Amino acid sequence: MADTSAPGRIRDAVAGAAPAVPPDPRRAVPRTDALLADPRLQQALALLGRAAVKAAVQRAQAQVRAGRLAATELMEAVLRDLPAGQREVLNATGVVLHTNLGRAALSEAAVRAVTTAAGATDVELDLVTGRRARRGRGAMEALAAAVPDAAGVHVVNNGAAALVLAATACAAGREVVVSRGEMVEIGDGFRLPDLLVSTGARLREVGTTNRTSLRDYAEALGPQTGMVLKVHPSNFVVSGFTSAVGVAELAGACAERGVPLVADIGSGLLAPDPLLPEEPDAATTLRAGASLVTASGDKLLGGPQAGLLLGDAELVERLRRHPLARALRVDKLTLAALEATLRGPATPTWQALHADAEELRRRSGALAAELTASGVAAQVVACAAVVGGGGAPGVELPSQAVALPAELAQPLRLGTPPVVGRVERGALLLDLRCVPPGRDGDVAAAVLAAAATTSTAATAPGAAAAAGA
Ligand SMILES: *Cc1c(COP(=O)(O)O)cnc(C)c1O
Repeated sequence: MADTSAPGRIRDAVAGAAPAVPPDPRRAVPRTDALLADPRLQQALALLGRAAVKAAVQRAQAQVRAGRLAATELMEAVLRDLPAGQREVLNATGVVLHTNLGRAALSEAAVRAVTTAAGATDVELDLVTGRRARRGRGAMEALAAAVPDAAGVHVVNNGAAALVLAATACAAGREVVVSRGEMVEIGDGFRLPDLLVSTGARLREVGTTNRTSLRDYAEALGPQTGMVLKVHPSNFVVSGFTSAVGVAELAGACAERGVPLVADIGSGLLAPDPLLPEEPDAATTLRAGASLVTASGDKLLGGPQAGLLLGDAELVERLRRHPLARALRVDKLTLAALEATLRGPATPTWQALHADAEELRRRSGALAAELTASGVAAQVVACAAVVGGGGAPGVELPSQAVALPAELAQPLRLGTPPVVGRVERGALLLDLRCVPPGRDGDVAAAVLAAAATTSTAATAPGAAAAAGA
């Protein structure tokens, strides 16, 4: 039998004689205990626990045994394979609310509130009396204070949940009157009409795709009407021969018949923003006569994922006490983040939307200069940023970007931290609008690291093409 021990193999190699049978790869596999004691795994053990790390170690050992991985590369394979959780990404897409990047980034105040709320909190306890208190009353008070026109406020899991709760409580077994121009698909194949029908309500569609009149609504209202719904077309624009009926026009007809008028404004803008004149806001919509406004927390409001319900006190209380409300309840982390968002300073979303053009130009220029000095083809180009996330369709925010060779897109996505830009006309554009100002240095470092992995980065023609764009 051949000697397959390490000294034996060395002897064989030195002697120039191949072993009679290949060495047993199992002999080359380091032991699990020894691997788990490796200092490089100690942090992972503390964060992920022994079971997850051990499983990754065993997967790598199996690879070595199967001859697919060199024993010397085992530890790197383990580190790559450890569950990473969600990773922080620098959003250089120029899309302020990027759904695939988690929509709104929380403010520092909201992040701190979430951290505090992670432990035991008084979310549902009155510390003065020692009794149960209204859940998340701080968040509710902040919401009510932010929208004084809302006599009642409630918060559920997201905008879709807010609509489901309203439709279930107002129109299950009855009709939701809604314009054919407002049958919106919100994303990932989810459609509001399907969502409404899933509550047991029937849709009573009125008007046409491009035109709906007050008479269309009036003719549909009757004993079967559970609610009238206005949906803001938040992710598309219809132009040309169009007409729609506003909340103010509809409010009278609904009030006359005692039918709730529900307005899904989508974006969560609480008050008008001059930058987004077409975007409906909660205060204006309520003043125009809506009984109830529904909106998302993680769009233009810039907070956590949540569904806001604002409006008539009795109606909101009915929704809050509905059995379904318990299934749509938000957790304490959301309530903490929402309260801090509402009370706190300008959110990252607001700052990105209102970013100063001169400042953006200065930051982009500094980044491009730093990269060029290091041999990466980079230049500043004018571009257009967008709101995204189902808000303000058609609105373009004049912006600046650093144009780079497009081949850097993937290595940048795979870097630490990942930087996500957008590829346009053959170049990778990095728009710093949504990158926190303190993080430009991290973007520069990431680009240099990415360029080091591609040989042609410094000479690729992409940047020149973008400069002419
Ligand atoms: C985004 C949006 C929704 C869905 O809200 P989520 O918070 O994503 O559930 C519903 N209606 C409109 C008009 C929207 O813009």
